[in-house]
Amino acid sequence: MQHEAPATGAEEALEVWIDQDLCTGDGICAQYAPEVFELDIDGLAYVKSADDELLQDPGATTPVPLPLLQDVVDSAKECPGDCIHVRRVADRVEVYGPDAD
Ligand code: SF4
Repeated sequence: MQHEAPATGAEEALEVWIDQDLCTGDGICAQYAPEVFELDIDGLAYVKSADDELLQDPGATTPVPLPLLQDVVDSAKECPGDCIHVRRVADRVEVYGPDAD
């Protein structure tokens, strides 16, 4: 019998991005996961890099730290603009958000 590969999670690494065109600026995401999301002075939400830098390029992604996954998923579910997209890094398939199955 083969041993299963250790669950490193690397193959399931996730990243998140925001479609600012649909963002209402209510700030729910920044309340749920302030380590990942932040409102900029333009009133829209952006993702942040691991070293806390606001990423303002359209479609910019940031890795989802595993301990924050639930907060990020809750943000995507509650987002009034339906504009938080969580996808697998490996194949860019959306797993949480408006385009997830
Ligand atoms: S929850 Fe959605 S709509 Fe609200 S600020 Fe965050 S990204 Fe924008």
